[in-house]
Amino acid sequence: MSDITGLTLSQLVHGLRSGDFSSRETVQAYLAQIERLEPTLHAFLTLAAEQALAHADQADRQLAAWRKDEESHIPPLLGVPLAIKDVLCVAGLRCTAGSRILENFVPPFNATAVDRLLESGVIVLGKTNTDEFAMGSSTENSGYGPTHNPWNTERVPGGSSGGSAAAVAAYMAPAALGSDTGGSIRQPAAFCGISGIKPTYGRVSRYGLIAYGSSLDCVGSFARLVSDVALIYSLIAGQDEQDATSMDYPLAQANLDEVDLAGLRIGIPDEYFIAGIQPEVEAGVREAIKTLQSLGAGVERISLPHTEYALPVYYLIAPAEASANLARFDGIRYGPRSAAQNMWDIFRHTRGERFGAEVKRRIMLGTYALSAGYYDAYYGQAQKVRTLIKRDFEQAFEKVDVIAAPVAPTTAFPFGQHSDDPLAMYLEDIFTLPANLAGVPGLTFPVGFDTQGLPVGMQLMGPHFREDILFKAGHAYQQVTDWHNTMPPIVENSLNQK
Ligand code: GLN
Repeated sequence: MSDITGLTLSQLVHGLRSGDFSSRETVQAYLAQIERLEPTLHAFLTLAAEQALAHADQADRQLAAWRKDEESHIPPLLGVPLAIKDVLCVAGLRCTAGSRILENFVPPFNATAVDRLLESGVIVLGKTNTDEFAMGSSTENSGYGPTHNPWNTERVPGGSSGGSAAAVAAYMAPAALGSDTGGSIRQPAAFCGISGIKPTYGRVSRYGLIAYGSSLDCVGSFARLVSDVALIYSLIAGQDEQDATSMDYPLAQANLDEVDLAGLRIGIPDEYFIAGIQPEVEAGVREAIKTLQSLGAGVERISLPHTEYALPVYYLIAPAEASANLARFDGIRYGPRSAAQNMWDIFRHTRGERFGAEVKRRIMLGTYALSAGYYDAYYGQAQKVRTLIKRDFEQAFEKVDVIAAPVAPTTAFPFGQHSDDPLAMYLEDIFTLPANLAGVPGLTFPVGFDTQGLPVGMQLMGPHFREDILFKAGHAYQQVTDWHNTMPPIVENSLNQK
């Protein structure tokens, strides 16, 4: 059983089907790893241990029946456990969005992405930590305390999906779901040394995702391997009548058997290699580009001239949309209610006592940007510049197939480094926000380590709905490198202790 947590998704599926181990043993192996490292890392907000074991027994019965008739239908991931970011509803499991205002919220339904995984035979291990309402880049804004980075527990795991990224990096789950509004899958994947996809906007249904910035939010997956990220993505992608922004667009299958990247044109945007970026991050990304070249890809310099506006544009649009989305948490329509004499005091106390500082800051910023006298100057203007950023990408993709860039300007930073300075924290997002503003997909995978042993990630962005190109390139890279197999020391120790 000791090796189960080290397996890839396809190895898990193979082992379960051939009866090398049971789903119960698989779930137990992950729960044991959670027991060993969760006290140190705090990746989870809710664990579903008993329920997961019960589901595993069901899966084992189904697997046994299938073994007697291998022609019969079997869900693709039957008996495989997964972790889910606590902004996605799983029926019957508490869903907090990292906020005290949803401390007791138990959704009666599943998010569509979760539903599709359950139909694929997946077992939910638990719900992972997140910055409150996915607002943040470190999980320090969680209402339940931060998650720690498995590579160095004094460092943040990134955010907002830091719990999902840490869980996968610490072998507490083989894969996980997250959400990415401005980088929340790609940046924690990079900080924790794993792979992650932010799909094209509209590719994965957001029904049952607690909304942050509705024109930016995307649901995506984490795993150690790009091929596993691609597998989960292929199961959750596709139109959903419950989400009017989800698109009916054919799913291009990535050809992962091909390691040859001949003909692939990679664009290197000048605006992403700027002063202030940590030298080892730049060196790691440039080295990875050379590896992609050695596999046959061609490289050319490109320009995305409006990149510098992505940060101010995002930090107007995202808070504006958040202020509207969070209006419902007022103690009357949603959430617990603080005792008060009248309606306004109920609002004031409920929201004042239960929202954290960052959420309040964004509600104020967003409400201001949307208010009558300022709408044109701020929100309206931001929307116009957003169009220019989108056009930058469209023009670039006339010349190149993918764009290669760093994920974040630094590797994982120490707790508290940006806590008193929201603007410094927002700067962490400069390389991830443009993809959300343009709606294009972005894939992160590990490409090395800095001198302190912290992972360096790189990002490939592609045209709308061309996740397949990103997966092919990322997978090819992982065929000739080994970063994705390197284990954080505390994980190695925890596995040796068994
Ligand atoms: N760090 C960004 C923010 O705080 C992005 C978060 C996200 O993608 N959910 O808004």
